Amino acid sequence: DSGYESPLLEGLNRQQREAVLYRGPALLIIAGAGSGKTSVLTRRIASLLETREAWPSQILAITFTNKAAAEMRERVKVILGQGADGMWISTFHSSCVRILRREAENAGLSPTFSIYDSADSKVTLKRIIKALDADTLGFTPGNASAKISKLKNELADADSYARNANMSDPQEVMFVEIFRQYTSRLRAANALDFDDLIGETVYLFRAFPKIAALYRRRFRHILVDEYQDTNHAQYSLVRELTRPVEPALAEEMEAQGVHVRNLRDATGGIPGASLTVVGDSDQSIYAFRGADTRNISEFERDFPGTKVILLEQNYRSTQNILSAANAVIGHNFDRKDKRLWSAGGDGEKIVGYTAYSGHDEAQFVSDEIEVLHQAGMAYRDMAVFYRTNAQTRALEEILVRSAVPYRVVGGTKFYERAEIKDALAYLIAVANPTDELALRRILNTPKRGIGPATETALASFAEANQISFRQAMRDSSSLGLGPKVTGAILKLATLLDEAAGKLDPENPAGTANVSELLTFLLDGSGLLTLLRNSRDPQDEARAENIEELVAQTKDFNKENPDSGLVDFLTQVSLVAAADDLDDASGTVSLMTLHTAKGLEYEAVFLTGVEEGLLPHQMSANEPGGPAEERRLFYVGITRARQRLYLSLAMTRAQFGDINVAMPSRYLQEIPVALIDWKQSPGMANSRGGTQPRALNARRDGFGGGFAKRGEPQALPPAPKPKTEWANRVPSQVRDNGDLTLAAGDRIRHVDFGEGRVNQVTGEGTKRIAHVQFDTAGAKKLLIKIAPIEKI
Ligand code: ATP
Ligand code: MG
Repeated sequence: DSGYESPLLEGLNRQQREAVLYRGPALLIIAGAGSGKTSVLTRRIASLLETREAWPSQILAITFTNKAAAEMRERVKVILGQGADGMWISTFHSSCVRILRREAENAGLSPTFSIYDSADSKVTLKRIIKALDADTLGFTPGNASAKISKLKNELADADSYARNANMSDPQEVMFVEIFRQYTSRLRAANALDFDDLIGETVYLFRAFPKIAALYRRRFRHILVDEYQDTNHAQYSLVRELTRPVEPALAEEMEAQGVHVRNLRDATGGIPGASLTVVGDSDQSIYAFRGADTRNISEFERDFPGTKVILLEQNYRSTQNILSAANAVIGHNFDRKDKRLWSAGGDGEKIVGYTAYSGHDEAQFVSDEIEVLHQAGMAYRDMAVFYRTNAQTRALEEILVRSAVPYRVVGGTKFYERAEIKDALAYLIAVANPTDELALRRILNTPKRGIGPATETALASFAEANQISFRQAMRDSSSLGLGPKVTGAILKLATLLDEAAGKLDPENPAGTANVSELLTFLLDGSGLLTLLRNSRDPQDEARAENIEELVAQTKDFNKENPDSGLVDFLTQVSLVAAADDLDDASGTVSLMTLHTAKGLEYEAVFLTGVEEGLLPHQMSANEPGGPAEERRLFYVGITRARQRLYLSLAMTRAQFGDINVAMPSRYLQEIPVALIDWKQSPGMANSRGGTQPRALNARRDGFGGGFAKRGEPQALPPAPKPKTEWANRVPSQVRDNGDLTLAAGDRIRHVDFGEGRVNQVTGEGTKRIAHVQFDTAGAKKLLIKIAPIEKI
């Protein structure tokens, strides 16, 4: 201990204190939920600033959501009593966007690049899959985008993937083609998807050591929260940022007037930044998105000289809640056992509730919320968690009826509404004129008589002439379309060009701010007026949403007087699920278990603790699936400070069916003494104070589920196997190579049976047979790889 005393160390335990004060190249803080990891990280930043060991601009702190970033910034400000401008506290994605916009030219991008969300990616993939007829091989926008995303998270691209793939497998050949086309379409549109934001930044640093050196020089302290959920690309980014700057490069920087002298060490180079990461492997819940806990387990090997600090005291929950959490997570293998304890006393028992139906469960939750509220607990201190969004319907219905104020966090995603995406597409088309996706979205929105055939004609015209879609619109007079359609296209192109002129600094009128621009586009396109004048009550809501967007642009202008259109669009793109959380609003929060990570509430209602939901049926059969679902359950339990409710329903309405549900296997893992079980009074043979019958039944070997006593044990129904495209690989590996087909030939297809070739288009490996199958209808097949033979 340095003897350094400061109010910011007040109340910290010995390990926490050490974690704030330790100085060295690498620090790994591993600890269970609620042990103060995030708090320690925040105080560590404050300490670095308070002691003047670092300027704000030398700190880069990474959080999991923008909301968490804002909170951390606020806390640092409170601790220091002053703001710390210039400090980067943000998510991986936001930091990378900042870097890429600054260095765009070197990354082969224009700084106004668009950011595609997963819906945008899927629209793009849908077009590619259609053009390649890849659906005949089982590809969908969903499975293709999942696979591409997974690869990008491992920093693979289409070429590197192709080098290792089995290219005699038609499925692989097709996938590589989809991946290539997806990459080139995004390039052409000057667009990056979410995964690219990280990957492109890593590529940039690797390709341009001088650029990397500037950021290595700048960020001297890098701190990462929730490190257990980082993927390989994010890990690589952290590595790139923490590397030292070679003496020669430092020399060169100094010669070029970059101030580095005070950073250079005895060798003349700049030592790597100090890295602090905090995490809890037991809370890793994003493996399905490529998160890799090896980033934690191999940290000490990756960063030699690492200091490891364990925090063991939990400050969040009562001992009962903590004991339940410890018991549950103790059932996972391959983990380091942590001894978490609380000084907060046992607290109340956990309340378990077996409901008759989803509605009954919702009623119980609602009633209990009222009981707690009457007893003095604020609504904003309560939260209801669920595994799937579908569960909100019953909850909302009852909460509305009971007049309990609530909000669904990350549920109705404002920026994902169609009308909002339409309005934003107008702005994107102005900011990034090469964004074909945005242009095609607004081409006939609002309706202006431009049909799909015209849209395709414009796209082909652009491709054939190697011009952008936007230029094709300007040149549309030469397409030989009808005068009305041509007029409509030209009018839209002119509107967009005029809007762009309003942003052009060279133009005397080029001073429009975002809200003026949006208003101009809405007026010019008639989008808002049409919705306002519509008789459809839905359109009224849509108009209100667009008005809300206009109001947001006005706020943005006010709060960010120096920022422009691209900044606004960036901010919109990076809003994550947890970001629309507003806990000052006096409402109960409803959210998925994934969204709940990192948060805490006085009372938590964890609903739907049933087989099929938790573990979710999709993961129950996947390797590592049940363990990851158990971690999710652990995350949910450990959000609660004082009161925890676990509920399940015997029957649940799903997709119009009534399903009989089984209690989750994880409930058995909680010591009986910790839970007080209640049952719905509406249930037959209601017995208060016991566990749900299935649990008792399994213990004594009799009965099962909610079946009558004495019936044979009924284990949860095995989940249906997933029909993944990977399982549908035709058994033969196929390369039809130079199979010559002509109109009139008859062929046989593995899945579609016999049919007649109507036409063959395309050339070489891209030849496509247009086939009328006898029973399966008309299909287009890529001859090279389609599972067909001539008969
Ligand atoms: P999670 O794993 O859920 O992200 P965490 O380890 O990041 O949790 P924090 O959120 O930092 O934990 O802390 C949990 C709670 O404990 C917070 O309310 C925090 O203010 C409180 N806390 C942390 N350390 C102390 C302490 N030394 N004294 C009192 N309260 C503390
Ligand atoms: Mg935390």
